[in-house]
Amino acid sequence: MHNDTIAAIATPPGVGGVGVIRVSGSDAFETVLPLFKRPGGATALPPSHKLTFGHIIDPQSQEVLDEVLVAFMHAPHTYTREHVVEIQGHGGPLILRRILRAVLAQGARMANPGEFTMRAFLNGRLDLAQAEAVMDLIESETEAGQRLALQQLQGRVSEQVQQARHTILGVIARIEASIDFPEDDIPTPQAQELSPLIADAQKQVLLLLSGADQGKLYRQGLRTAIIGRPNVGKSSLLNAFLRTERAIVTPIAGTTRDTVEEVANLRGIPLHLIDTAGITPTDDPVERIGVQRSRTAAESADVVLLVFDASEPLTEQDRLVSAEVQAMGFKVQTPDEEATARKRPVVIVLNKSDLEQKLEIAELKQLWPEGVFINTSTLSDAGLQHLENILAEHVLAGRKLYSESVLITSTRHQEALRRANEHLEASYSSLEQQLPLDFVSIDLRAAYDSLGEVTGETASEDLLDKIFSEFCIGK
Ligand code: GDP
Ligand code: ZN
Repeated sequence: MHNDTIAAIATPPGVGGVGVIRVSGSDAFETVLPLFKRPGGATALPPSHKLTFGHIIDPQSQEVLDEVLVAFMHAPHTYTREHVVEIQGHGGPLILRRILRAVLAQGARMANPGEFTMRAFLNGRLDLAQAEAVMDLIESETEAGQRLALQQLQGRVSEQVQQARHTILGVIARIEASIDFPEDDIPTPQAQELSPLIADAQKQVLLLLSGADQGKLYRQGLRTAIIGRPNVGKSSLLNAFLRTERAIVTPIAGTTRDTVEEVANLRGIPLHLIDTAGITPTDDPVERIGVQRSRTAAESADVVLLVFDASEPLTEQDRLVSAEVQAMGFKVQTPDEEATARKRPVVIVLNKSDLEQKLEIAELKQLWPEGVFINTSTLSDAGLQHLENILAEHVLAGRKLYSESVLITSTRHQEALRRANEHLEASYSSLEQQLPLDFVSIDLRAAYDSLGEVTGETASEDLLDKIFSEFCIGK
């Protein structure tokens, strides 16, 4: 039963101008009405989808809890497609909690994380990809990411997935008609009739897959570790990036003094910059913890900015850091490499270009024979634009930046599409090997179901629980 009435605070914790309590379910109106006192003592249900002024009172003590605006919204034109009430109170956590408690005392149940959106999905207002887009939209870190989430929310990803499913279903129908009703003279379809149809479906799936890596980049961003021995200018570089990129500066929770993470905007891609304290070996046990943390941060990075101080000769520590980075598997990219091989690149930065240059480039060349060296100064901002270009090039590997086409942004969707593609591949080769059409049909069904996971038609209950539990409460 999905119809019991649920309630939660829908605005974020903390103090705000207004705070909203959301109530949804068949008894939403009856739950809130007894708590809602209007001037003049009206008791009828206020007009739907309009804000009505009044007070929330404690029904037992008649104590006024808050002055509010309340929207009573009739199903089905609501977020969940159920009756919904939204109470706008003053945005203090204590006030909101007291109102919520009063609502719960009327018989509503506390909503689980994502339960409002889950109901919207179960009631058919959103498909699964759209429901996921709600969270992406809330969490997007750049405007490009926002645009993609909105596209998905509006159903553009789902549309294309459904198109591919439709094509596949057409092929299945033709095969199965001939299997089920041979006596009705339905001719057995020939391989040369079916294979172009399968190829067509596969083309649609591959088109969606082709933008997935790029789409994920916009959503998840790029982890970029800034590495180098102490004093070369790592922290200054991070700050310079934030300054020039008009960053959305978001301090990340759990930041230690050993690693600092900030988000800059690299042409629409959230660049997660991690300033590491240092990864060189040390005997000091306290320092060793810091080194371990930095190393972990570096190991999980997508890109490394390896920084040297060009105003000083190469030091032993510089060499050690270089060796560490190489041991972690980061590589300098050469222009002729395949785009797919462009993984985990290291970009070498020669900082302090404003000072007299004492770093022997020849020595550095021995460490990084293929390296392209980028001179920067965090004092004058020289070279930062160039560094940004190089980073963007590495990251996008020559692919076009944000375009109007639909981009898949989630690994879950990418995996489902990959599986669909494999099943289509299998059905194709069954057809070529002239296996019975049953075989072809089984693979096509599997492809159809894989695609259904994206939109939720064939998603298991476990998967749904997992997806919606990652939402926040009240969403
Ligand atoms: P980190 O230890 O690698 O994080 O280095 P910091 O960013 O803390 O910088 C160390 C010192 O170098 C500071 O005194 C900075 O002001 C200075 N510094 C950083 N970048 C530059 C630069 O481009 N030019 C000059 N002249 N000094 C710099
Ligand atoms: Zn630093």
